Amino acid sequence: MDEITPRSQDFSRWYLDVVRRAELADYSPVKGCMVIRPYGYAIWELLQQALDSRIKATGHVNAYFPLFIPNSLLTKEAEHVEGFSPQVAYVTHAGGEELEEKLVVRPTSEAIIGTMYANWVQSWRDLPILINQWANVVRWEKKTYPFLRTTEFLWQEGHTAHETEAESEEETLKILDLYADVSESVLAMPVVKGRKTESEKFAGALRTYSIEALMGDGRALQAGTSHNLGQNFAKAFEIKFQARDKSVQYVWGTSWGVTTRLVGGMIMVHGDDSGLVLPPNVAPYQVVIVPIGRDNWRETVLPKALEIQSQLRAAGIRVTLDERDERPGWKFSEWEMRGVPLRVEIGPKDIEKAAVLVARRDTREKQSVSMEGLAQRLGDLLADVQKSLFDRARQFRDEHTHRTSSYDEFKQIMEGRPGFVIAPWCGSAACEAQIKTETQATIRNMPLGSSNPGGTCIRRDAPATAEAWFAKAY
Ligand SMILES: [Zn+2]
Repeated sequence: MDEITPRSQDFSRWYLDVVRRAELADYSPVKGCMVIRPYGYAIWELLQQALDSRIKATGHVNAYFPLFIPNSLLTKEAEHVEGFSPQVAYVTHAGGEELEEKLVVRPTSEAIIGTMYANWVQSWRDLPILINQWANVVRWEKKTYPFLRTTEFLWQEGHTAHETEAESEEETLKILDLYADVSESVLAMPVVKGRKTESEKFAGALRTYSIEALMGDGRALQAGTSHNLGQNFAKAFEIKFQARDKSVQYVWGTSWGVTTRLVGGMIMVHGDDSGLVLPPNVAPYQVVIVPIGRDNWRETVLPKALEIQSQLRAAGIRVTLDERDERPGWKFSEWEMRGVPLRVEIGPKDIEKAAVLVARRDTREKQSVSMEGLAQRLGDLLADVQKSLFDRARQFRDEHTHRTSSYDEFKQIMEGRPGFVIAPWCGSAACEAQIKTETQATIRNMPLGSSNPGGTCIRRDAPATAEAWFAKAY
């Protein structure tokens, strides 16, 4: 078995080893694109289901818009096209001819969806429009990293249109809460909800909000964004409606998305030197049963193991039984590497005692559990693993979050123990850029509900206007 590089030795190498060894993803013949292998895709599907059910429960519906966008549509919103142009891929030839107008391979879908909404909205009675789509998008990246940054990635993008600014702001924040809930309750990944600075906001948006998580190496990951688009896109795409007072107005828009990057975040938050550690809520297998025994285990142990497997399945637990002709010890480390939350060992002696041995992936604790009521007990243990992973990640995050108003200390922290640094900031983009040049740290966001700390900016002698969370980021 190939070794996995220890996290402390080289975190980046460790991550790539885990992705490859656990068969989550592979490189493709197209540079920067990744193949998501079945085990990785199963994780994505569970996450997708959790998101999709919440998106629908908050009144949204799914639709699908085309992959190709006429170039003239993308260029309608000036800030938007400027923000995306370095990353856009074009189709110039098709059907054996050069196209009259080149097509954009969507980097995001505001342009095509805005064009359609302009046709669909006439009156205030047509609002709100609450549409989500599950799709792939392409952003040409110079430097790629499996799941975290790939040229083509999978995501959901919500696009809504509203009568008033208040409604669009409410929607933007509602989705931010939804994203935070999925990150924390499904991926067991604690996040900070807040507003992005002007320089970090989405190209063409009025305001961008994000959730930010802290990875195991002390770098931050932007895990999801929700944008209040204001009326910028409505004006560019002529999305107008007759208001209740008969006046003609532009709609207020939002857009929001999370991507396959969340899978990478989950790996970096929970994984250890043995490989993946999966939160039960996104584990393709929550339990693996490993039969123990001598040469005749297929006769002595397997029938009981199969019986237990069907019991657990009937109780709604995702379970697999490892029947391969390999040593149990080999199977143990294989499933540990793949991050399965609970391992059930069953041998002839266990059967005599009507019990099994259960090992937790997160704490590696082992305990004997009676076969009677086993499904219930394992269900409880899975819930406990889910909670423990979240608590552990939050404790790590808290231990790596510092507050300072001294720039010397700020620089010291960014050089040494990494993590979040909470510091007062003056609101100047130039100042923000200087801090980035000098320390590589960027403002991740300004948390909701945080107030002006007063005093002076961390970088220069100017009044602070906000409390910002800084970090080196992926
Ligand atoms: Zn400043």
